[in-house]
Amino acid sequence: MEKPDKELFDKVVKISQARGFVFNASSIYGGLRSSYDYGPLGTILKQNISKYWWESFNDVEVNIYPVDTAIIQSSDVWKSSGHLDEFTDPMVDHKPTGERFRADQVPDDLKKEDLTEPRQFNLMFETNIGPVQDENSAVYLRPETAQGIFVNFENVLRTMRAKIPFGIANIGKSFRNEITPGQFIFRTREFEQMEIEFFCKESDEDKWMDYWINKRMDWYKSLGIKETQLQLREHADSELAHYAKKTVDIEYLYPWGWGELEGIANRGNYDLSSHQKNSGKDLTYFDSLNDEKYLPSVIEPAGGLTRTLFALLLSVYDEEKLENDEKRTVFRFTFELAPIQIGILPLSKKDDLIEVCSEINKTLKNDYRTEVDITQSIGKRYRRQDEIGTPYCITVDFESLEDNCVTIRDRDTMKQERISIDKLSEYFEKL
Ligand code: ATP
Repeated sequence: MEKPDKELFDKVVKISQARGFVFNASSIYGGLRSSYDYGPLGTILKQNISKYWWESFNDVEVNIYPVDTAIIQSSDVWKSSGHLDEFTDPMVDHKPTGERFRADQVPDDLKKEDLTEPRQFNLMFETNIGPVQDENSAVYLRPETAQGIFVNFENVLRTMRAKIPFGIANIGKSFRNEITPGQFIFRTREFEQMEIEFFCKESDEDKWMDYWINKRMDWYKSLGIKETQLQLREHADSELAHYAKKTVDIEYLYPWGWGELEGIANRGNYDLSSHQKNSGKDLTYFDSLNDEKYLPSVIEPAGGLTRTLFALLLSVYDEEKLENDEKRTVFRFTFELAPIQIGILPLSKKDDLIEVCSEINKTLKNDYRTEVDITQSIGKRYRRQDEIGTPYCITVDFESLEDNCVTIRDRDTMKQERISIDKLSEYFEKL
């Protein structure tokens, strides 16, 4: 089995910041701890992963409906879901320094007698709505996107005439006032989630649980995350969240060891039943075929978009020794996910070469993510395109002006191929 690679963490963080994937938030003011901004390449990569997630529902044989729900919901939602009472982590203070830690994440070198007794700390960010602050104005930033789905269950059922089994999917920002955020974008206070609530009959729960475990695992592999760095881990009874009958995590082998990438939980009808009771609204499903009314069971695949982006960067990072003893660094993104798919480089910064590059770009940019790169030497440009994981580079040289041909370089094999400019579209279509 693969071992976690501790050095990899620093390398990936450094390259992500240097190449415009992820920046420290508020960096010109010295940064805000554990807050990050996504730069141009990170934003494109995040969009690509998100798009890939939505597209993965195309081959599900039943309907998965998209929703996009509010970050601020009525506080009744969080009362009913249990978040107001239960969404807490045990926190301890280190008396000599006043530093705070999640009780299960206290550094080994601290003395036990220096720590306070653990007390529960609610992870939801509280704010106020409207101009007057009173006990009725308190609202919370959502700590998960899932509840936005449950409170819209009846809306979707009615407006889409949905038939069980079906799913509702939601993607967006969630907020948790984590006591110990860290490890770059692995655990942040503001992050993005991609969640599905899949509604089925209770008697079909196990079947659909297995279905989603397999489907989600296959999805992570299809992103290009190495199979040997993925595993499933079922929660012990003592670990189960208050709503869960069973939970299986998809774990990734981070540089510090195995950790969660996505949790797939059987939530039974906990949420619908609680919202039905507290809202007084009928949330049952009527099965007209069998003339029965019931609250469906729910299988929830809940993943982190930003955490997936991090796992992907770690997994596709590669270093290669070249024949001349130089080293090259590569993100081996798949063609579908690469932020830039085709780099177009003039051999030197001559106007007529740049003009050919612009012409080529015009023909390709509607179908592919392209970039014309004219800075620095050609060697440095290749290095940068490798580092940002561009699968193909087209080089325009002086001969191109004569023979109308260019060189295509494959990122992984480094093989170069000479091809006529009019055949370029055909070449990439075939991939
Ligand atoms: P953890 O045990 O790591 O705190 P969790 O079990 O609380 O995670 P869930 O509530 O199951 O997480 O959320 C679903 C997914 O959302 C997680 O698998 C993870 O990918 C992502 N996620 C949760 N908390 C964070 C965070 N603070 N920063 C980034 N991603 C997060």
